[in-house]
Amino acid sequence: MKTIGLIGGMSWESTAHYYAILNRETAGRLGGLHSAPVIVHSVDFAPIEQMQRAGDWDGAGAILAGIAASLEAQGAGIIGLATNTMHICAPQIRAALSVPFIHIADPTAGALLADGIGKVGLLGTRFTMEKRFYIEGLEARGLEVLVPDVGITNLNGIIYEELCLGIVRDESRRIYVEAIARLKARGAEAVILGCTEIGMLIDDSVSPLPTYDTTDLHAKALVAAALE
Ligand code: GLU
Repeated sequence: MKTIGLIGGMSWESTAHYYAILNRETAGRLGGLHSAPVIVHSVDFAPIEQMQRAGDWDGAGAILAGIAASLEAQGAGIIGLATNTMHICAPQIRAALSVPFIHIADPTAGALLADGIGKVGLLGTRFTMEKRFYIEGLEARGLEVLVPDVGITNLNGIIYEELCLGIVRDESRRIYVEAIARLKARGAEAVILGCTEIGMLIDDSVSPLPTYDTTDLHAKALVAAALE
């Protein structure tokens, strides 16, 4: 099995989930005491978040590309970035690597298409919902993508002011469930939890639509790629 290089800390709350899933998935596939060979480079999220707000995607991309290259130099044979939003910088990261970079939207689109979903709702940060970088990758695979028509500021705030700090509130869950119900009313057949912290708040037991959790799908895809 190849060593997985994981760029994390955005936020560390979701990186902790990645770490658990990487290990459980590896044990599930290989059995016994097997666990994932993984190098996690967890950043300080505060300066990265400031760069997001300032729109300094090139600066953030240069930092993440440097980390990716250092993970490869340490022996990682597969690289993953444990956040949807920072995949804005995926081209810069890919350019710094000679080993495969597993884009978070790829296993997500693959799972939706395998289940015969054509029209899907997308929840995430405002960057993921409003910029084209994420949606265009899904559309290129033939998916029709709907984002919320109201409440984006509130949905975004819940991610940065609560979930990234480990705060899970029933009222925020209600707001997310309502957003999913609106997507369903507009014709979505499923919803992408397109932020790696949303799984802390929403799962199939409360969602009006079947959920596709990017944290879970991405972590499992990294294990699959490491075992190829
Ligand atoms: N983890 C989040 C995501 O998947 C949001 C935090 C970030 O901006 O990286 O988009």
